[in-house]
Amino acid sequence: MMSDCTLCIHGHFYQPPRADPFTGRIPREPDAAPYANWNERITAECYAPLAEADHFGRISFNLGGTLARWLDRHAQPTYARIIAAERGHRETCTAGNGVAQPVHHTILPLARRRDKICQVRWGIASFTHRFGHRPEGMWLPEMAVDYETLDILAAEGMRFTILSDEQIEGELDAGAGPYRVRLPSGGEIAVFIRDRHLSNALSFTMPHPAGVDDWLQQQIEWRCQRDGLLLITTDGETFGHHHRQGIEVLGRILSGGDAHGYQMTTLGMHLHQNPPRGELQVIENSAWSCSHRLDRWVVGCGCTPGDSRWKGALRRALDNLACDLDGVYMQETRALGADPWPLRDDYIAVILDQVDGPALLAAHGLGHLGEAESKRLLALLEAQVYRQRMYASCTFFFEDLDRHEPRYAIANAVRALALTRYATGEDLSHSFHRDLQVATSHKTGRTAADILDAILEKGKA
Ligand SMILES: [Zn+2]
Repeated sequence: MMSDCTLCIHGHFYQPPRADPFTGRIPREPDAAPYANWNERITAECYAPLAEADHFGRISFNLGGTLARWLDRHAQPTYARIIAAERGHRETCTAGNGVAQPVHHTILPLARRRDKICQVRWGIASFTHRFGHRPEGMWLPEMAVDYETLDILAAEGMRFTILSDEQIEGELDAGAGPYRVRLPSGGEIAVFIRDRHLSNALSFTMPHPAGVDDWLQQQIEWRCQRDGLLLITTDGETFGHHHRQGIEVLGRILSGGDAHGYQMTTLGMHLHQNPPRGELQVIENSAWSCSHRLDRWVVGCGCTPGDSRWKGALRRALDNLACDLDGVYMQETRALGADPWPLRDDYIAVILDQVDGPALLAAHGLGHLGEAESKRLLALLEAQVYRQRMYASCTFFFEDLDRHEPRYAIANAVRALALTRYATGEDLSHSFHRDLQVATSHKTGRTAADILDAILEKGKA
């Protein structure tokens, strides 16, 4: 057996935001019974037992911002174990095994450059805040990629990302890599390529614990003869939540290397030991979870049943609103002599409670502002947070408009509108309401404007 064969399992741990943007609380979710909500249930089935088994110290993983915040507040022991496992790995292996993630899980190729930069910077700042060191790599939401996104990752100091084998062109002669991708700016970034078939074999046909040895023999050993690094990437919830036996199966894979001829590694550690070899080109506007380019999040595709024209209509409404909100924000910041986008990028320090609003403004040369001006500007910055949150990928992921995720996007828009109105007196809601009338649920017949009205009604009650 070849002992230079290495295996990495990367878990994408993520939950879409479920909290009400007005109260910050998660409404009771009856289908998660006997738990109060899905976060609690998945914690009990997946995050807590994975952390207790110390698996977070041996896999590579990214932990989404909304989930990390929830765990920090509601499942402290599990959260603390995850952080400690990452730090421990970094101390013994010189590289962390945690990977950062753009903070609101936005499909980055669909975003404007300045929003891409904001999402990436906020993601890096959040990771550094939680794990106590800067990340070296970044997970792209849905692995959605274009060169501009990779350029920004590299400019922000990210050394690597992960893509799926159907998203690249070029020779995969070194297994999962890492490979070099040359960037339009003249720079480069390392890319790990996941083995789609092996990943699916684990995610969708997970063996019983007693069958793990056979599974390793069938799935891993012959690949080890051929490739260098084998990379499995999967949703972290695969272990324990989607498959009850997943925690134990993962444990057996993590400790099965001696018998089956591989060593476990993590992406950061592997990159330190193996500089990129070979060069790949990226297929822009592709993603790992849908083979129809980015259609799923723009116009809809065959991956979901029914009429998905609501997706394009809702996106148009959100884009128009974002444009209006940005216009007001830019006008106000520039009138006060500030540069709008670096100020917004740094606002993450306020979100993370590292500084207060006035201190941030002072650091941007705005310490002279009166109280009313400061308050106005800080309200507009807060509006930008909700405006960013509208674009969580799950807004557009599912089949219908009239369900929690699109409602959540519209509710965030309502908060951004309210903050803007509070700050400037400007009411941008009429055009937004008109745009939302075009988006219709094929299941309930309600339009997105009806959903907006219901949110406003509830707000009044
Ligand atoms: Zn699709």
